[in-house]
Amino acid sequence: MKDCVFCEIVSGKRPADIVYSDDRYLALLDIRPLTRGNCLVIPKDHIQWPDDVPDFGAYFETAKMVGKAAQRALGSTWTQYLTIGHEVPHAHIRVIPRFRDDLQGAVPDLTKIENLSRSEMEEIAGSIQKEIKRIG
Ligand SMILES: [Zn+2]
Repeated sequence: MKDCVFCEIVSGKRPADIVYSDDRYLALLDIRPLTRGNCLVIPKDHIQWPDDVPDFGAYFETAKMVGKAAQRALGSTWTQYLTIGHEVPHAHIRVIPRFRDDLQGAVPDLTKIENLSRSEMEEIAGSIQKEIKRIG
């Protein structure tokens, strides 16, 4: 879809730290990470709402796989899976690795963003990618 940030990432027109890609889904690091390793799992087709994504179970299983890989790669304590839906009109499951010392409370606050450098983001993406390849 025209003027959709996530569609531009899927088509390669916009750069992103992609950690996983298959026929249907793409996972990338959020450029405004709530915690280290915060990923977004999106369908490759432009679909606004998560519950309109075909095979909803497989979509969430993909998010879980990314969350488990991030947990192993980064040593997070647990993982939150969050869908809100209004920020970008293209379905995304937020995969949020949680650490005892992260910036977030029990409910993630979208205004509290980790300040990570480009090289830190690349290192995080690389370590999650590696773990996904290992378990996949
Ligand atoms: Zn889109």
